Amino acid sequence: MKPSNDNSQLPRVGYIGLGIMGRPMAGHLLSAGYPLTVFNRTRAKTASLAVAGARVADSPRAVAEASDIIFTNVTDSPDLEAVVLGEADEPFGVIDGARPGSIVVDNSTVAPATAKKIAAILQAKGVHFLDAPVTGGEKGAVEATLAIMVGGEEKMFQRVLPLLQRLGKTVLHVGPHGAGQMTKAINQILGAIHLCAMAEALALAKAAGLDLEKTRQIVASGAAGSWMLTNLAPRAIAGDFRPGFKAGLQNKDLRIAMEAATQLDLDLPLTQLAKHRFKQLVDMGCGDEGTQAIVKTWGKP
Ligand code: NAP
Repeated sequence: MKPSNDNSQLPRVGYIGLGIMGRPMAGHLLSAGYPLTVFNRTRAKTASLAVAGARVADSPRAVAEASDIIFTNVTDSPDLEAVVLGEADEPFGVIDGARPGSIVVDNSTVAPATAKKIAAILQAKGVHFLDAPVTGGEKGAVEATLAIMVGGEEKMFQRVLPLLQRLGKTVLHVGPHGAGQMTKAINQILGAIHLCAMAEALALAKAAGLDLEKTRQIVASGAAGSWMLTNLAPRAIAGDFRPGFKAGLQNKDLRIAMEAATQLDLDLPLTQLAKHRFKQLVDMGCGDEGTQAIVKTWGKP
């Protein structure tokens, strides 16, 4: 994570939200030589980046004051509104410190409607916005192999593309504000339905007395294979429920997808079923476990 020395020509970058995803992503920008200012609500999570050369700010506002391009990566729509728009009486948010012409790039997964709302509010102050959610999990964040789907103005996309290419392998401009988040919702319903398919398949294999790992290996290598079977089924079989992607976040993403579908007057029965299962898992107290814990709602494999 050592920054290079000559970074005088590079834009100054801010990163807000240093969780499982944000911390390694911010680290890649720092390693690429971008002058980096970070903020995290729980300050302890800034320590490794500070050691590597990042400046630590006391608020999202202070990050924005020190940056030309400000990344955000927080949990849910209200959290994004809190860090970008701040509180009613407190000049705490990105909007309170950002200069006209600066760009806010959101890597969180939030509602498409929230992305559009924030884009419009920032635009009124001359600040640009891109919704740029990611997929590829913690591994993709650590290895900088994420897929990044970006909504917003094409011109702004081109300006931040060199930075996004430090974070991911596949980076696509998919449409106007909100289109990145809508694409992510589609990604999330696929992921959740595949996880449920994985859990149901393992439940049958177990009930039939098959060797779970051999079953997984053979079906993962054929036409029924999936990213979930390759990457998450081994963890589920081993009883390793540590999070890469938390079940509670998957539950949030299914809520976002269902809300978007309702607004479009579209019925999504499989997503509805997956949402029910993830809600059940969260109600069992497993929201902070990895999404592979969904097998628990079929009984542990
Ligand atoms: P995480 O480890 O739980 O981190 C969440 C981050 O958001 C933390 O830095 C947290 O600060 C911050 N935060 C939350 N609410 C906040 C608020 N109201 N004000 C200020 N900061 C706040 O989650 P993650 O896995 O990195 O996920 C981050 C986002 O990426 C989510 O939208 C998630 O759906 C999405 N995502 C995750 C994955 C994955 O595999 N993990 C993959 C793709 C997309 P504290 O440290 O103080 O709690």
